[in-house]
Amino acid sequence: MAERLVVIGGDATGMSAASQARRRRGPEDLEIVVFERGRHTSYSACGIPYWIGGAVDNVARLVVRSPEEHRIRDIDVHLHHEVEAIDPQGGEVRVRDLASGQEKRVGFDHLVIATGAHPVRPKLPGIDAEGIYGVQTLDDGEAVLTDLERKPRRAVVVGGGYIGVEMAEAMVKHGLKVTLVDQAAEPMSTLDPDMGRLVHQAMENIGIDVVTEAGVEEFEADSRGRVRAVATKQGTFPADVVVLGLGVRPNAALAQEAGLSVGAVGGICTDLRMRVTGQERIWAGGDCVEVLNLVSGRPQNVALGTHANKHGRVIGINIGGGYATFPGVVGTAVSKVCDLEIARTGLRESDARQVGFEYLTAMVTSTSRAGYFPGSSPMTVKMIAEWRTGLLLGVQIVGRAAGAAKRIDAAAVALWNKMTVEEMTSLDLGYAPPFSPVWDPILLAARKAAEAIVASCQG
Ligand SMILES: Cc1cc2nc3c(=O)[nH]c(=O)nc-3n(C[C@H](O)[C@H](O)[C@H](O)COP(=O)(O)OP(=O)(O)OC[C@H]3O[C@@H](n4cnc5c(N)ncnc54)[C@H](O)[C@@H]3O)c2cc1C
Repeated sequence: MAERLVVIGGDATGMSAASQARRRRGPEDLEIVVFERGRHTSYSACGIPYWIGGAVDNVARLVVRSPEEHRIRDIDVHLHHEVEAIDPQGGEVRVRDLASGQEKRVGFDHLVIATGAHPVRPKLPGIDAEGIYGVQTLDDGEAVLTDLERKPRRAVVVGGGYIGVEMAEAMVKHGLKVTLVDQAAEPMSTLDPDMGRLVHQAMENIGIDVVTEAGVEEFEADSRGRVRAVATKQGTFPADVVVLGLGVRPNAALAQEAGLSVGAVGGICTDLRMRVTGQERIWAGGDCVEVLNLVSGRPQNVALGTHANKHGRVIGINIGGGYATFPGVVGTAVSKVCDLEIARTGLRESDARQVGFEYLTAMVTSTSRAGYFPGSSPMTVKMIAEWRTGLLLGVQIVGRAAGAAKRIDAAAVALWNKMTVEEMTSLDLGYAPPFSPVWDPILLAARKAAEAIVASCQG
């Protein structure tokens, strides 16, 4: 008799796991049932800011594979079905059909928890006013676009993380006057403040009013219950529409209620193969888990699609009878606001301090192409290396050129392979005038960091 795989959550992790398992085991051997409480499968939340901003013209383009396409591959997808409880010992889940309200129990031989994350929505006065949007789902994106048809004039974006800055750009593209408020000292707090300052300045240069150290205190509404202003520690900002970009938390409640292992940073704990700690037949991946940061050696919840897809692949291979592992992350992420590209990998200074590293930093401002080549634009690279050993700990890039951010990939590979900044100075990176100066900015930063290490050791 066929075994049954039940998947909770029909997006990146869940459907990658289901698809990989199906590639390895036919329907006669493995029945695959997916419960998704929403109305889409395999959709790209990452594309929402670009859809709202107009770079992507149709929401259908954000759906990589529809439920029908999955069903053709013998993956039995149930939309509008929410799993309400997991019984690990009994090997079953309790599911509610959200359309009919009916409840049923479904047994499993393997279970994948791929419930993602939920956006932070602070319980502040006025938070439920009309016109305040998160951007977690395609339905959220649809709601923002519908609202924009009213031709609002002023938008306030709350939160200066990557979703906040991407949404600020989307609002600018719609011609709105945009204010971004952030409680941190600089936007993009995944960077060090000195690099975040560059993002701040660049955003101001494109007309976005960036207000920092401005924790929100209240959302003010008009007599019809529609948001009209955002009150912060730094003043009150009029708003016809508000977008929340306050980050996410792992959606691990189901697992926690079932007594499964949930770690210090709130994500489900798994082993290297993405099997839930202490469980034989329950797996978890994506935004709902915590993973090992290979640089700090500490657990971390990293809500990024790049990892969610890899987790799903690893889980599917393992359920399919193969062997795959997910060793951890080095913390690489890229983003952009208009023509400013932003990238980071590894540790920030504050992370390095917290872990206990003694470190040095090097910052260089160079150009994206040979200085004489048309279109050459400035880019700043910051490198953090361990004192004495020169081990690379982190890199951040802010630059005004296409391709500036993706330079982080070379640094991420160096970090993954535990290179020193001295070793990095010899990296065989490509060069031709349209692509980089003869000394790529990454090499320049590595040189400067290596020199600083030598000088400090001599001193
Ligand atoms: C606006 C935005 C921009 C982003 N940009 C990027 C980017 O540029 N790069 C990047 O790497 N990442 C980006 N991300 C993050 C990326 O989208 C997520 O990391 C990824 O989608 C996580 O995949 P997942 O499968 O773990 O969870 P999700 O995609 O959240 O999917 C979880 C699914 O589970 C369903 N579900 C939850 N609980 C239940 C239940 N009890 N029963 C049934 N179904 C349930 C949910 O409805 C959801 O469909 C972005 C996210 C957002 C919101």
